[in-house]
Amino acid sequence: MTFLPDQWLPQADALAGKTILVTGAGDGIGKAAALSFAQHGAEVLLLGRTEAKLEAVYDTIVAEGGVEPGIIPTDLAKAGHDDLIALAGELSSSIPKLDGLLHNASILGDRKPLAQTSAALWHQVMQVNVNATFMLTQALLPMLEQALLASVVFTSSGVGRRGRAFWGAYAVSKFATEGLMQVLADELGAISNIRVNSLNPGAVNTTMRRTAYPAEPPTTNPNPEALMQHWLYLMSDDSKDINGQALSVQS
Ligand code: NAP
Repeated sequence: MTFLPDQWLPQADALAGKTILVTGAGDGIGKAAALSFAQHGAEVLLLGRTEAKLEAVYDTIVAEGGVEPGIIPTDLAKAGHDDLIALAGELSSSIPKLDGLLHNASILGDRKPLAQTSAALWHQVMQVNVNATFMLTQALLPMLEQALLASVVFTSSGVGRRGRAFWGAYAVSKFATEGLMQVLADELGAISNIRVNSLNPGAVNTTMRRTAYPAEPPTTNPNPEALMQHWLYLMSDDSKDINGQALSVQS
């Protein structure tokens, strides 16, 4: 069941005046979200590990007449607490508030039984999918608090809500993501302007999906662009009363 209100469509300027940071903004769902947010008036901050991909998204936004985005080349696999605090400090010196934070970057790791999952891979997946997500959220909370209404969206997965064989560290990292969302939403719900939810995109035609299911024809699943109204809704003020929910794009 979709959480979108019946017949909800975004206004052309639904995100005008908002600044939204998207992680993993260079490809897949994050790229589509960044472009879509910009098309609806937002200033988008593009965080990702491959600068050339971020620059390509930047160029598209500018060519489409969007608000000039920011580029934040950051490898979340290597980012520590001090790095992310410094990043937030730099941002806050030029940007007064953050209205949205889409935690989208993730890595799949290996599709293997847990018995064969190396500790190194486990740590790598947890670093990108959980630890960096936690540290970045914490670092950006003061900027989110400056917004009239702010939305934090964590990206989950079906295997983060019900464990499945061979999804290993990735699945466990998504359970942790759900936990992070629930604890933060409960902490902030009553005392702040910040709402916090998780979103499971379902099967979407991206590099990650094609890697996880190499034998599946890519056309089996929707392209990210076709689903963007869900992300737009969660970043728009129309979703201001939704907090602490584990939401899904596709039933
Ligand atoms: P994707 O195509 O693999 O894109 C992931 C993005 O994250 C890429 O831009 C990637 O950067 C970035 N990224 C990965 N590691 C990073 C790091 N260390 N530092 C900074 N950025 C990093 O994946 P996707 O399918 O769009 O997935 C987006 C989100 O949806 C993920 O959280 C995923 O778990 C979730 N999800 C996807 C599906 C699906 O069917 N696609 C289903 C359920 C959940 P590069 O471009 O440099 O590689």
